[in-house]
Amino acid sequence: MNLDDFRKNAHRLVDWMADYLENIEDYPVKPATKPGEILARLDEKAPTDPEQMDDIFRDFQEIILPGMTHWQHPGFMAYFPANASPPSVLAEMLTATLAAQCMSWQTSPAATELEERVMDWLRDMTGLPPGFHGVIQDSASTSMLVAFLVARERLNEFKTNHSGLDGAGRHCCYASAEVHSSTDKGIRMAGLGSDNLRKIPLDENFSMIPAELDKAIRADIAAGHKPTCVVATLGSTSLSAIDPLRAIGEICRKYRVWLHVDAAWAGSALILPEYRWMINGIGLADSFVFNPHKWLLTQFDCSAFFIRDKAALIRSFEILPEYLKTREGNRVNNYRDWGPGLGRRFRALKLWFVIRSYGITGLQDHVRRHIDMGHALAKQVEKEPDFELLAPNPLALFCFRYHPENISEDLLDSLNERIFEAINDSGEIYLTQTRINGKYAIRLVSGSPWTTRQHIDKAWQIIKDMARKTK
Ligand SMILES: *Cc1c(COP(=O)(O)O)cnc(C)c1O
Repeated sequence: MNLDDFRKNAHRLVDWMADYLENIEDYPVKPATKPGEILARLDEKAPTDPEQMDDIFRDFQEIILPGMTHWQHPGFMAYFPANASPPSVLAEMLTATLAAQCMSWQTSPAATELEERVMDWLRDMTGLPPGFHGVIQDSASTSMLVAFLVARERLNEFKTNHSGLDGAGRHCCYASAEVHSSTDKGIRMAGLGSDNLRKIPLDENFSMIPAELDKAIRADIAAGHKPTCVVATLGSTSLSAIDPLRAIGEICRKYRVWLHVDAAWAGSALILPEYRWMINGIGLADSFVFNPHKWLLTQFDCSAFFIRDKAALIRSFEILPEYLKTREGNRVNNYRDWGPGLGRRFRALKLWFVIRSYGITGLQDHVRRHIDMGHALAKQVEKEPDFELLAPNPLALFCFRYHPENISEDLLDSLNERIFEAINDSGEIYLTQTRINGKYAIRLVSGSPWTTRQHIDKAWQIIKDMARKTK
């Protein structure tokens, strides 16, 4: 493609992008696609000869688009939002065009220094203390793995990176029974063994019980094991439970155990002063993660990872073969030494565009609006005699079920499962399910940038209608 054609096509695509966002509600939020349906429409062999962009783009519209789940749809209330926003999309266009590898300072000085600056902005915006150093990872799962590896290495005086884990003893980790699956995965990847993850019992608000944590750590010490890392969750995935950070932090300090804070989704709410109570005790944490790519209007992938002991981080990851040496050495940040990957995308640009374009107040309005909408809808659900909330809802997420009179508990799960399927088949809204104390629960989270009060009202209407006509 020559540059004239590139220009022409780029203009056409930008027009399509704006039209798409303008008319996004014309699409079903979740497609009715069956497994294999799209695959069957794709040529089995790669084309031998060049094809025209007109044909490629036509197939995108005819084959790909009907099989997409529309994450920016105002009716998307499933999982967690994966926010995008116009300024973020524009920055991604530039990132794609510059196509820089941002592995070291020298390979992209501005990308490195912008990353340092915007991560400092985010740290201050969320109320984290100045001692934290930020770096953008691709996901909260990677951030969690990094925390485990640094915790492991620091505990073992950086020897296990060389000697391996053989003979290094049992490394035990601790997390709430509601912890995200990325904890289990991270523990496996860090070689610590998922049998050594202790899931700590919860109180009536589904928050970790600090005394139980203390007990579990003491038992492991008594058995000659090595307590290595505690994961405190702010905003658990199933139901947005919040672990008591200060009490957990004091236990970590007492036993010298690494404290990682996973606030992947809820961390965005820390830009609101009224939600800072969630990080009361953050001074006791060693690392912290939240995902601007969930709820802060910044395209996936953008996971903001903060760590206090920058030297331990670099010491855990740094490998310096001759071909990677640069004149600036460690007078600058070389982010390749801050995580598992070597090559890195220029991710800071979209964050810079978003923060500047919305301003802190614009971002606060966005998050606050969703919390208000989530609370308002949860209140309506609670008011209806044939519905019930199944857990507290501190943020923009709540879990509920339909519970008409005269129905036995053992029929409620299957009834709610059928209601849930009917709601999602409507194509108007998309929800996910979970289990709370063994009960099947329907889970709703408000977070799409395009969702308004009208959409929330409509969602409630659909839920009520579907529930009351499902047998
Ligand atoms: C979403 C989520 C994760 C995983 O985030 P990724 O960026 O997709 O890895 C981890 N922890 C919690 C609490 C989450 O909500």
